[in-house]
Amino acid sequence: MTDFDLILVGGGLQSSLMALAVLDRRPGLRLALVERDERLGGNHTWCFHGPDVAAEDAAWLEPLVVRRWPSCEVAFPGRRRMLGLPYVAVTSDRLDEVVGRRVRESTGSVVMTGTAAVGVGAERVELAGGHVLRAPAVIDARGPLPAATDGCGFQKFLGLELRLSRPRGDLRPLVMDATVPQRDGFRFLYLLPFAPDRVLLEDTYFSNGPELDRPALRAGILAEAEARGLAVERVVREEEGVLPMPWRQAATAAGEAFTGGYRGGWFHPATGYSFPAAVRLARRLAEILPRAPQASDWDSLRDEHERQAAFGRLLNRLLFTWVEPGERWRVFERFYGLPEETIARFYAMRTSWVDRGRILLGSRPPGLLPGRLLERWRAG
Ligand SMILES: Cc1cc2nc3c(=O)[nH]c(=O)nc-3n(C[C@H](O)[C@H](O)[C@H](O)COP(=O)(O)OP(=O)(O)OC[C@H]3O[C@@H](n4cnc5c(N)ncnc54)[C@H](O)[C@@H]3O)c2cc1C
Repeated sequence: MTDFDLILVGGGLQSSLMALAVLDRRPGLRLALVERDERLGGNHTWCFHGPDVAAEDAAWLEPLVVRRWPSCEVAFPGRRRMLGLPYVAVTSDRLDEVVGRRVRESTGSVVMTGTAAVGVGAERVELAGGHVLRAPAVIDARGPLPAATDGCGFQKFLGLELRLSRPRGDLRPLVMDATVPQRDGFRFLYLLPFAPDRVLLEDTYFSNGPELDRPALRAGILAEAEARGLAVERVVREEEGVLPMPWRQAATAAGEAFTGGYRGGWFHPATGYSFPAAVRLARRLAEILPRAPQASDWDSLRDEHERQAAFGRLLNRLLFTWVEPGERWRVFERFYGLPEETIARFYAMRTSWVDRGRILLGSRPPGLLPGRLLERWRAG
């Protein structure tokens, strides 16, 4: 007799999506969600583009959505473009509330917050304190391992959620504003207007080093807010991230349990987004259960993901090893001149061979000729 049908270790994005997908498709399944912190989901705003998610997943994801915009914008010194791609936001607060409630309401399922796992095996999880949970299926989604320091660049950012004293109804999501002074690699601002009096403003860098100068970034964001005519009443919340942008394939965590999320390499190497991959993995798990998953159950999804990830790593190699830091913005300016469907498939990790050719040729770094490009592609 096992305690549960499924144990999800780490109550972040990946496990939370798995819990929702599984309880949607397999109501009554007994699951345990084990999270070290006191609440699920940490401190994040997760966004994704509408086409990142298949229509069949929209219904079970919907309760997580705090805001959906019909389009989003990018800006560069020589290009400003409105993309007709819906942009969707999920917050940690909403995730904690929705996932916590859904699991607790399901008979036989539990949310174990404030509980660290110290040992994770294929069918058992040992908790701090020595208690052991057993299930025929265990997923290890304890989040990113410490980032490697070589073979990758970094996407690093700090964001402030601002309460405005003068509401602004005219703002649209600005997902990349690279008209700001470039430093420490490629730099852009990111603005999400959650409400007329509440915006998230982030300062993001694609850099060769992971360091974040927090006081300077905070001061810079407030100065940018003022320059954009945003009357800041107070800072409501702060979030930050340092995400690896690898050009070498990282070893994933060794262990017996299947690894999901960032820990298992289920993210887009060139954007840092993991939402699309996490949703696909969650649906796959729901399809497999209640049978105990076998390693081969993940093969086709893993192969498809790896093909797309390899392309992302090639782009990172070009960006971080070929292009001068101060020139990187040009690559993105060119990328955003490509057809909208190509941009959408790139974010969704659904690129075709034609898209990959277009991206390589259409946004290749200045000075990189097609012959050299082909050599580097072959070299991986
Ligand atoms: C601030 C920020 C914003 C991001 N925004 C986006 C975005 O807009 N779109 C996007 O697609 N991606 C985004 N990402 C990237 C990626 O989606 C997130 O990092 C995502 O949270 C990764 O999901 P995960 O489940 O693998 O890990 P996490 O969400 O980090 O979850 C791991 C969980 O495991 C817990 N844990 C760790 N060790 C133990 C243990 N021993 N026992 C029990 N629990 C443990 C942690 O406390 C944590 O809650 C963002 C990343 C950051 C940092």
